[in-house]
Amino acid sequence: MKAAVVPSLGAPLEIRDVPVPEPGPGQVLVRIETCGLCHTDIHAARGEWPVQPKDLLVPGHEGVGTIEAVGPGDDELPVQVGQRVALPWLGHACGHCRSCVAGWETYCTAPSYMGYTMDGSYAEHAVAWASHVVPVPDSVSSRDASPLTCAGVTTYKGLKVAAPQPGETAMVVGIGGLGHLGLQYARIFGSRTIAVDVHDDKLQLAKDLGADHVVDGRGDQQAEIEALGGVDVALVTVPSPAAMRAAHAALNPNGRLVLVGLPADNRLELPVFETVLKGISVIGSLVGTRNDLADCFDLHSRGLTRVVTEGRRLEDVNACFDEVLAGEVPARLVFEM
Ligand code: NAD
Ligand code: ZN
Ligand code: ZN
Repeated sequence: MKAAVVPSLGAPLEIRDVPVPEPGPGQVLVRIETCGLCHTDIHAARGEWPVQPKDLLVPGHEGVGTIEAVGPGDDELPVQVGQRVALPWLGHACGHCRSCVAGWETYCTAPSYMGYTMDGSYAEHAVAWASHVVPVPDSVSSRDASPLTCAGVTTYKGLKVAAPQPGETAMVVGIGGLGHLGLQYARIFGSRTIAVDVHDDKLQLAKDLGADHVVDGRGDQQAEIEALGGVDVALVTVPSPAAMRAAHAALNPNGRLVLVGLPADNRLELPVFETVLKGISVIGSLVGTRNDLADCFDLHSRGLTRVVTEGRRLEDVNACFDEVLAGEVPARLVFEM
């Protein structure tokens, strides 16, 4: 099968002909139809995070496709051959650590991550754990389901933990793959919304998606947000400590700063005094659970979200990485196998 492989960290990806992987017990083989390009895939291929991905990584954790085969064994699997499923970042969780038992499988102490610790969906086929793929409703196209599988569920969950109220203001910083969906979820939660980006087309996209206010991060962001009355929740999708600090400075008393972007520079300096005197919470948030993803598919089925994508060929993966880094893409690129 065709797959995009990271030959070594920091090197361009190579399109290779590799054997179709074989599912083990409890696993399924999925014929991939679409896979979104998450900014995480770029961090992974470059080895930018404190924990390194597997060797000869096949990235991709927004895969959607049809189950073609199941692994050996007589386990009763929750999915069947022929079913269309999504293959999210959380490839597997143990199911019995304290986090898993508490409903926080995303913080499992022994997780597998698709497209990071196990091969992902930048390929014609992928192997996934039957327990952790998520069925895609017929009413959701594969091309829409792909970005919902990471960008959607991550911002949905990030907002859920910060719980913006109808009378509050939620700010989404970065209106890219994640942020364009985060903005829509913030509206669904009923709060007033502010969108921040540094590219004209993203600011226009935020307006089109119904942002109440749009702030150009290249200008005097702080003064503009202050004039709008500050914010109660700030969801920062940009992998930039400076953007995180600016969002912290915009928070009202009892404000919640949700960190989602994962900068290569793994340090963030925040003022303690303002954090304490305003009772600010700083919350890290990683993707979402299988239930959260099912919620995202349901919201989309009900016509409440719009997924902005452009289709691409896997062969163009390196050019696509450059386009995303330049901020030139309309929200999410999706590889069509
Ligand atoms: P993206 O490149 O699609 O979007 C980033 C957006 O930020 C772009 O629209 C860009 O124009 C904008 N931007 C850049 N600098 C800015 C600034 N200073 N102020 C405001 N906007 C700015 O990326 P993405 O796929 O949405 O991913 C974003 C980050 O989230 C990455 O670091 C990724 O690894 C991380 N991520 C985290 C999780 C998680 O579970 N926590 C899940 C997925 C992705
Ligand atoms: Zn992702
Ligand atoms: Zn666990």
